Amino acid sequence: MTQVIQLDSEQPAQEAIERAASIIRNGDLVAFPTETVYGLGANAMNESAVGKIFKAKGRPADNPLIVHVCNREMLDIIASGVSKTAERLIQKFWPGPLTLVLERKPEVARSVSAGLPTVAARMPRNAIALELIRASRTPIAAPSANASGKPSPTTATHVLDDLGGRIDMILDGGVTNIGIESTVLDMTTDPPVILRPGWVTQDMLTEVVGIVERTASAEELRRSPGTRHRHYTPHARVILIEHGSTEIIEVVCREHLKDGAVGFIGHNQVTIDDVLFYSIQLGNRPEDYAHSIYSALRELDSRNPHVIVVEGINDDDEGAAVMDRLRRAASELMPRS
Ligand code: AMP
Ligand code: MG
Repeated sequence: MTQVIQLDSEQPAQEAIERAASIIRNGDLVAFPTETVYGLGANAMNESAVGKIFKAKGRPADNPLIVHVCNREMLDIIASGVSKTAERLIQKFWPGPLTLVLERKPEVARSVSAGLPTVAARMPRNAIALELIRASRTPIAAPSANASGKPSPTTATHVLDDLGGRIDMILDGGVTNIGIESTVLDMTTDPPVILRPGWVTQDMLTEVVGIVERTASAEELRRSPGTRHRHYTPHARVILIEHGSTEIIEVVCREHLKDGAVGFIGHNQVTIDDVLFYSIQLGNRPEDYAHSIYSALRELDSRNPHVIVVEGINDDDEGAAVMDRLRRAASELMPRS
């Protein structure tokens, strides 16, 4: 049985936090909200507890986890050699959606880092998450709380749909603020390298540390093994229409309607008079997409379309993070290059 406990996201009840923390201290699993997506947490220093995360999610063992801390001091339990540059980033962006890849301390459970000599760490900007870590008195390893490969969860219901019965408790703090995962920045190289784009953009990082590289080279992909795996995908095949190709959307939807139900997510309205056409309209700002894209994919998927067509947005700034996720979710990009 998975207990779901509703909490005030600003002032969570201490009694519930204490119960959740005792589950973590016991070596079991608790899902909790962060400002990005819901995380599935376990004591990062306990090998058997971390093993339960991989098992519950069906996550490949070569995909490392992010460790969450509640203050700067706690970072010293898991990482060493924190540079001046890293300190400046921590000052500026923590708590917040920036994950730093640092030199790992040997006390961290090995499976957290999937065998790498590094550890990814961040301090989330969410009172429930911070209180839970504080009460647990240990850093908490937490990947997104979805079944491996599925869209990340932005509500407690999403977590329950994917992991109900496999985890002990879900702390329900409502819909997450941002809706997509953190920026992952590798601090073990000079200049630092963005391994996964997120809400903290390349420009925001450059302002603090000078040069920051953005990559997708084979070498970096090897260093961030998780980025290799299939991600964020619903059951339906996702077709992504790149920004600026509005005119082909309706044609593509009609074409696929010949073979069955079709879902559409976009900021332009597409009206097709067919009972097997389901559409969800989003605002056109990156924050609108980030906030709603995963739940829109899940909602459409529950109607069993064979294809979901998604209209892309501009790739600039925060849009880069949204488009990164959509390109990974998609099995086809249009127009084809
Ligand atoms: P998730 O928590 O599900 O959003 O996934 C965490 C992601 O962080 C992984 O897929 C990796 O891309 C990245 N990551 C975690 N630990 C490391 C590490 N030690 N080195 C590089 N990337 C990491
Ligand atoms: Mg994930």
